[in-house]
Amino acid sequence: MKGIVLFIGPPGAGKGSLAHMCVKQLGWVQLSTGNLCRKHIIEQTKIGKEIDFAIKSGNLVSDVLITSMVEEWLLQEYGKQPVVILDGFPRTAEQAKLLNNLVETKFKDLSVQVVTLDIPDTILVDRLSSRIICQNKDCQAVYSLSEGSLLRPAQDMVCDFCGSALGRRKDDEYEAVKERLTVYRRHEHGLLAFYKASNKSCIQLNVAQPITEVFKEFQEMIGLNTI
Ligand code: ADP
Repeated sequence: MKGIVLFIGPPGAGKGSLAHMCVKQLGWVQLSTGNLCRKHIIEQTKIGKEIDFAIKSGNLVSDVLITSMVEEWLLQEYGKQPVVILDGFPRTAEQAKLLNNLVETKFKDLSVQVVTLDIPDTILVDRLSSRIICQNKDCQAVYSLSEGSLLRPAQDMVCDFCGSALGRRKDDEYEAVKERLTVYRRHEHGLLAFYKASNKSCIQLNVAQPITEVFKEFQEMIGLNTI
């Protein structure tokens, strides 16, 4: 398989967790636009200062800015690995159009595979209220404090991968979560309509099941043997 895989879904659907499994087990490479934005904020770059408020309050960064960040990353990573996952991009129909232009002009040999992840908002709110992430800006691994979850860290509040402290994201507070879900649903229809109209290959994943099952189903759907 070769190309760009787009993970499209509301906050809490598990885009980052699924992408992480693809990176670890399939050797793909992932760009999480959310992680990239948080890295800019922690490093207090010019972009970081510009987007800080939008992120904390659960709003989107501008289409042009986020697309230029994705373009810069793609230019660096292009060709290093056969499959690139974009996790959390595009999020609006405008971003989808901008990405389409980019692929047509600069990454002509890359096919685009759309993967949608969706479950009801009530489950998403629950998931986000128990989510914690690694505070190391270069790691940002995602965990859950839910009883019995497969995503619980081995040691309390310590990252399994890099040993840094775990903590809550500011935008996982209840008010920001509600805003993020509203913003996602506002753009969802236009975004999916764009891909439907452009005849891109589209896979719908059932993500209301344990992450290992989601990963298995995903591999089957894209034609990878899971045995
Ligand atoms: P989630 O999908 O759980 O909301 P992310 O970590 O993907 O979280 O994104 C966090 C925040 O980063 C978003 O609420 C938004 O402010 C910003 N962001 C990430 N991706 C985009 C994008 N494609 N367009 C605009 N803003 C984005």
